[in-house]
Amino acid sequence: MLNIVIFGPPGAGKGTQSQLIIGRYRLTHLSTGDILRNEIANETPLGTEAKKIIEKGELVSDDIVIGMVKNKIEGSIDGNGFIFDGFPRTTEQAEALDKLLEEKGTAISAMISLDVEETELVKRLLKRAEDQGRTDDNIDVIKNRIKVYNEVTSHVCNYYSKKGKYSPVDGTGSIEEIFDRISAVIDGLGKKRSCCG
Ligand code: AMP
Repeated sequence: MLNIVIFGPPGAGKGTQSQLIIGRYRLTHLSTGDILRNEIANETPLGTEAKKIIEKGELVSDDIVIGMVKNKIEGSIDGNGFIFDGFPRTTEQAEALDKLLEEKGTAISAMISLDVEETELVKRLLKRAEDQGRTDDNIDVIKNRIKVYNEVTSHVCNYYSKKGKYSPVDGTGSIEEIFDRISAVIDGLGKKRSCCG
């Protein structure tokens, strides 16, 4: 299986690049943000709880998010692999993900981290607010989401770096240019795998 974590701050382009990765590598998309937005749209108890947190730009609790991921992995384990988008966002989530995958006899292949400067992130998120009308894309919430990323989520890089799975990629330029850089990382993994048996 090919299991990729697509990582980066809000506005780095994780969702856009995930769609291209799915198209080329036939992976199952697992976006915790999308699952949560779906719960909100369906007005489930979990959605009602999550809405308050998301609208402040804070993180939903590890237990809830890990439970959602576990369900999705169990439902799609027979595919080519997963692209994890917006998850893990804490070291605890990263540890839980490794455990869940190990139980299924598989592991994370690489964590691809999109590097984008903060001023560019804010610009992109404000543009997305106009195009898509996401309730957490307004300036105060955007600032808090970037703060939470810097203070909590960015540490997840160290977790994968220690395991030799961290691949930073320049997240600026055209969508195609960024995708070419990501594909080079993923194709490099394939070569390593086949030459080592
Ligand atoms: P996203 O679409 O990935 O930017 O997620 C939107 C919001 O959903 C985030 O700002 C968080 O409030 C919440 N969320 C999504 N994924 C996670 C996660 N892995 N852990 C905690 N909260 C999350």
